[in-house]
Amino acid sequence: MTDDGKPGAHGHPRQRPPLRNWTFRVVDSFDVPPGMRRVVLTADDIHDFAYKPGQAIVMMIPLPDGGTGRRDYTIRSLDRRRGTISVDFVLHGETPAPTWARRAMPGDTIEVKGPRGGTVFQPNADWHLLTGDETCIPAIAHILETMPAGTKAFVFIETSGKDGEIALQTQAETAIRWVHRNGAPAGPSELMNGVVQDFLLPLGRGHAYLIGETSNVRRQRHTLIARGLTRDQISAEGYWRPGRIGGHDHVND
Ligand SMILES: Cc1cc2nc3c(=O)[nH]c(=O)nc-3n(C[C@H](O)[C@H](O)[C@H](O)COP(=O)(O)OP(=O)(O)OC[C@H]3O[C@@H](n4cnc5c(N)ncnc54)[C@H](O)[C@@H]3O)c2cc1C
Repeated sequence: MTDDGKPGAHGHPRQRPPLRNWTFRVVDSFDVPPGMRRVVLTADDIHDFAYKPGQAIVMMIPLPDGGTGRRDYTIRSLDRRRGTISVDFVLHGETPAPTWARRAMPGDTIEVKGPRGGTVFQPNADWHLLTGDETCIPAIAHILETMPAGTKAFVFIETSGKDGEIALQTQAETAIRWVHRNGAPAGPSELMNGVVQDFLLPLGRGHAYLIGETSNVRRQRHTLIARGLTRDQISAEGYWRPGRIGGHDHVND
């Protein structure tokens, strides 16, 4: 795990420019079935906000001890006319981020850094493979919404069951498959790796976007490399893992 400015995997400082700071203000918050809470935010300098679909912001979420902790959340959408961004929080438990989202009231403020992240659309690929669990629905939905017509995308999303599925909007030519855990909790498993193992690789040069629980992302990455994809054909990021508090995992081993 690396945070910006901290040493990278090989002990060398990462040469990334510092992330910009923003003070966001809550405009609205409401439930987005199944199991998410959407918070709509604005900022005085929102017109400067530029990002690529799939990128995230780092939110300074209030903690029970009175401090704040960093939590990464995908930009679900940007409404330029209204000057707002939306963020969808999976209500996975009584942890700081979903607790803040449930309680967020118009006028509340939150410090944010970003945007950040490299899991973004690669326009030169012949086909695109996107996989993830519930926490990745905002990223996958937003990438799909902004894919150009005619793009070929294969999408596998893990949910607890059928009631976890949502309607996805896209102009792309998509094959979307919901992969059900049949009620099992989200977490490390062979489920998505099995799907990726069985995926019939299309002709041409593809790009895979693998996000979700870190060990599941790592398994899928290794599977695709073993099946002949090169490292630069894969964007992989661990969004969460059991016991990890906030942060993000670069999966590049
Ligand atoms: C780039 C990026 C984008 C992300 N985008 C989104 C997004 O749009 N929406 C979203 O909901 N999440 C998203 N996540 C995941 C989110 O940042 C983590 O789930 C984060 O840990 C949530 O913080 P928390 O306060 O709920 O829990 P924490 O205080 O960080 O963790 C407390 C405990 O909860 C467990 N936990 C954390 N997340 C989950 C989970 N999803 N399911 C089960 N157990 C969990 C932890 O392992 C830990 O044991 C993203 C992560 C990254 C890196």
